[in-house]
Amino acid sequence: MAKRDYYDVLGVDRNVTKEELKKAYRKLAMQYHPDRNPDDKTAEENFKEAAEAYEVLSNDDKKSVYDRYGHDGLRSSGGGSAGFSDINDIFSHFSDIFGGSSIFDDFFGGSQRSRGRRRGTGTPGSDLRVTLKLSLEEIAAGVNKKIKIRKHVKCNDCSGSGAESGTSTKTCQVCSGSGEVRNVSRSVFGQFVNISTCNNCSGEGVVVDQPCRKCVGDGRVQEEATINIEVPPGVNEGSYMTLRGEGNAGKRNGHPGDIIVVFQELPHNYFSREGDDILYDLYITFTDAVLGTETEVPTLGGKALLKIDSGTQPGKLLKMSNKGIKHLNHSGSGDQIVRVNVEIPKKISSKEKELLKELAKQSSFKKSSRSDEKNFFKRFGI
Ligand SMILES: [Zn+2]
Ligand SMILES: [Zn+2]
Repeated sequence: MAKRDYYDVLGVDRNVTKEELKKAYRKLAMQYHPDRNPDDKTAEENFKEAAEAYEVLSNDDKKSVYDRYGHDGLRSSGGGSAGFSDINDIFSHFSDIFGGSSIFDDFFGGSQRSRGRRRGTGTPGSDLRVTLKLSLEEIAAGVNKKIKIRKHVKCNDCSGSGAESGTSTKTCQVCSGSGEVRNVSRSVFGQFVNISTCNNCSGEGVVVDQPCRKCVGDGRVQEEATINIEVPPGVNEGSYMTLRGEGNAGKRNGHPGDIIVVFQELPHNYFSREGDDILYDLYITFTDAVLGTETEVPTLGGKALLKIDSGTQPGKLLKMSNKGIKHLNHSGSGDQIVRVNVEIPKKISSKEKELLKELAKQSSFKKSSRSDEKNFFKRFGI
């Protein structure tokens, strides 16, 4: 079956903004979400189709290829469209793009954010952003971190109401508790109703008669709080995690904000990271490379034995399976890749020199079997 046009799939036009695109995708993703449509093959196909279209159109490079050449362009450019094979693929793919496992939180939990604006529930608290530095060891296995953070917390004296104990809040006189003010204006075109947030109560519908002394009517105070962060294994530099409701408390019992934890990867003295694989540079002696040996190498989980075959060449990559970082979105781990470097001694004793000279006369050391200079020289008649 021919593929449908991605713009048609998402029901957007070619000048769509990123925001509109996200909105359109969110709508379809919610409509066809597998949790809402158990065992419905058509819904699953639609869900995949929408994810694929969004994956391409939300990526500037892929979008521009698609705009110029259509589906064929993506097929030949190698980068291609994801062509998701199963639902889990979609979840893990978008978690990579947006970091953490939060895009669906973002989509499906996001709509709750506006909740606090309802009248009588105070003003919502703001989000807090913290950067969490993690060592490769912590990333590999996952870690539980406690951090201290200054934030607005609910005032205990007034239980967040903002009213001095023994007094209470009153319905706002200006808006009669609706939190909104209506201005009606008339013109030749008819009657216009302009609705705006009530200034007297900031849209809360209630006012504090006698403000609490501790929080001055705010319903919240600044305090140092300890936050517990459960970091799953396999997170990436720059990806983030959302702790819902752990951000600043809202004014007068308003909905609390979130804490956005952004992960930062600390450089490691011995290892570098390639996706979920760990790269390690091992230095061995010339004689070990020739004779072979067994050597201890550091890994993220401690030390491990590695066998070096006789005749190992410099630059050879040896794989230590499953010694890398645990995958974030599926089971299993990456590998540790050991790059073998052969160290040539810079200074040797006169005795070693004699031995090496003797060695150099032996057949295996006379000439590199790889060197092909003779054939090269022949072309010049030399
Ligand atoms: Zn108070
Ligand atoms: Zn009001």
